[in-house]
Amino acid sequence: MRTADPTQRPRLVVLDFDGTFTDVEAEAGPFYEAFHEDARAILGDYEAEWARAQATIAEDPGMHGWLHDGRIVAPGDADPYLRATVIMNMILDERGMLTDLDERTAVLQKLYFDNYPKADTVFRPEAKEVVEALLASDVPVWVVTNSATRHVQEKIDRLDPKGREALHVIGDARKFIVTDPATPDPRFDGIPATVQLDDLARPIYPRRGHYFEVLRGVWNDTGTKPEETLVAGDIFELDLMLPALLGSEVMLVTKPRTADFEKTGCAALERGSVTDDLHAVLARLG
Ligand SMILES: [Mg+2]
Repeated sequence: MRTADPTQRPRLVVLDFDGTFTDVEAEAGPFYEAFHEDARAILGDYEAEWARAQATIAEDPGMHGWLHDGRIVAPGDADPYLRATVIMNMILDERGMLTDLDERTAVLQKLYFDNYPKADTVFRPEAKEVVEALLASDVPVWVVTNSATRHVQEKIDRLDPKGREALHVIGDARKFIVTDPATPDPRFDGIPATVQLDDLARPIYPRRGHYFEVLRGVWNDTGTKPEETLVAGDIFELDLMLPALLGSEVMLVTKPRTADFEKTGCAALERGSVTDDLHAVLARLG
């Protein structure tokens, strides 16, 4: 599958949004405040449990991850939004509350979607310059994110990059769902059920069928192929593992809390690299 020339210039750039364009830790204050208020309505007093769970996650974010449908699908410390959900799951487990998983997922998704819009908008310092330069290039740039399209659009409006109208945004990509795509695809058939990384004691599950459908739509729209695509994101198994296995070049854009296994896992890929600066994306367009 990975026969593309590693030096070739990408013909499509796909970017994640939260944590990739933005400084997620810096913008999360008001999100947490509102989230805590809603959580208190469900849990009553829970501050000590929250602090305990947060410390447990920080010790081993790879193993205390975002659990979806019985599988860990992302590290628990990957961003404040994820961390809040993981902590809530740990508290609910401890208390034996909301044991019906569908019901629990609905409650946690509502907490997330209700409060995500209350977060500040804090962009990475280089975001505007890099996005403007990308938009000025001849390569199409698409944002593919789990967050709601409208909220991400609003944030990008605030960034107000030159060439904004050329920036495509697809939200609700549900990169966390391990499933087959609605329409089968031989490219997806070749994706293994699990991948084992050297520095992580659990498997990664790359068969993210909804994410695949979104990416396939972008490839169809742009007339490009996976191996002609550069995907940049801040969470290895959510943003990058699937496109990497499909043959895309991938770039992990790190934050201070990026887990070590993500960096070593991405760097070990044939077409993977690790950076803490979005200029690296631009550099690939020459
Ligand atoms: Mg992200």
